[in-house]
Amino acid sequence: MTPPRHRVLVVGGGNAGISLAAKLLRGGCPDVALVEPSPTHHYQPLLSYVAGGAATIDDLTRAQADVVPAGVRWYQDSVTAVDPDASVVHLAGGGELAYGDLVLCPGSQVDWDAVPGLREACATLHASTSYLPEHAPEAWDMLSTLTSGRAVFVVSDRHVPCSPVGLKPLFLAADHWRSTGVLGDVAIDLVVEGSRLAGTARADQELRAAADDYGVRLRTGTVVERVDPAARTLQLRSADGTATLRYGALFVAPPHRAPGWVAASGLDAEGTDGFVDVDPLTLQHRTHPRVWALGDVATVDTSPSGGALRKQVPVVAHNIPAHLVGAPLRHYDGYTVAPVTTSRHQLLLAEHDREGHAEPTIPFPDLVRPRRSLYLFDRYVEPQVYWHRLLRGKVS
Ligand SMILES: Cc1cc2nc3c(=O)[nH]c(=O)nc-3n(C[C@H](O)[C@H](O)[C@H](O)COP(=O)(O)OP(=O)(O)OC[C@H]3O[C@@H](n4cnc5c(N)ncnc54)[C@H](O)[C@@H]3O)c2cc1C
Repeated sequence: MTPPRHRVLVVGGGNAGISLAAKLLRGGCPDVALVEPSPTHHYQPLLSYVAGGAATIDDLTRAQADVVPAGVRWYQDSVTAVDPDASVVHLAGGGELAYGDLVLCPGSQVDWDAVPGLREACATLHASTSYLPEHAPEAWDMLSTLTSGRAVFVVSDRHVPCSPVGLKPLFLAADHWRSTGVLGDVAIDLVVEGSRLAGTARADQELRAAADDYGVRLRTGTVVERVDPAARTLQLRSADGTATLRYGALFVAPPHRAPGWVAASGLDAEGTDGFVDVDPLTLQHRTHPRVWALGDVATVDTSPSGGALRKQVPVVAHNIPAHLVGAPLRHYDGYTVAPVTTSRHQLLLAEHDREGHAEPTIPFPDLVRPRRSLYLFDRYVEPQVYWHRLLRGKVS
């Protein structure tokens, strides 16, 4: 039987997939279909606030049916493989779909296997993460009830979406401990795999100063090799050697990986760690020109983030029809952003390009300095911009 065929088939109805589908429709594309298994849609940036006790899961959840743009054919299913030579995708439900152009945006997944013991630790009351909706509320239960002992915060640099936001729960919790009078009894350790806390030197400096103000002990360039949930210890490795660290509470921004079917379908390449091998400028697959990727699954040589999608979505929406008629393709400049709280009422923005050069949206005022207005914008205004503009394809 011939599978149903769509002019553009989008895989994944998260931030990237819904925004792109809406943008394509706005541009006049007559036939856009979407494959997305989940009945619910999450605005992920608020998960950090849930883990920091400043938002609830309800604040960030909508029915998927309410965000799929009218006019897009939604298949509630999962892609299990792509055959780019036949222009067909295979679905978990057993069906197949054919496409003219294929856009991959299934995001990335927590890579539990990367750190032995981490999954088991996160199943206890003493360890958690904001990176999964089922864990984020437990993170705040754990952090807010800690009144003494050691809290360890770990931020990996292995494909973590918008990794500096992994620091938000630390600062929200530290400020809570200060205001409840227990900060002096809680030892805070921050273990970071990379060399910086954010993508620019200025933002890194500001965050180090804020951490210092709470008495945080910082280790950069340090990898967690394994977790022992029974002993509540972490095995650390850095250039200085190995160390064991005990924790009373453990918060992690864990390593992520691409869905396995990307590599199994031959859409990765050597050196992409299983992520989709697109040209970071045009977001077009390097060997299959009718395949595109954006968002957390794409190799774009910059830190993945929702903010980056504001620039990527218009590029892909332009390039798909442009490629068909041989018109010039647009380029994504690598812009990305990380909004990081430094307390329960202040936040800074680290905005930069692929090379780590600052790329502020507005030149004045200085958004790298922590501000109350930025906190209010990130916590209360950005979610409205997301639901009412970004997911409706209103980006240019
Ligand atoms: C805790 C947290 C905090 C964050 N904070 C910020 C922030 O403050 N600012 C910022 O700019 N960014 C932030 N981000 C990053 C931002 O949320 C992501 O970069 C963005 O959501 C990526 O969009 P995406 O569509 O690529 O992936 P996702 O939004 O993860 O969506 C992927 C979709 O694909 C679907 N899918 C998966 N597999 C399949 C399959 N096989 N077939 C079909 N569909 C599939 C999933 O169900 C999901 O709906 C944060 C992320 C997290 C997790």
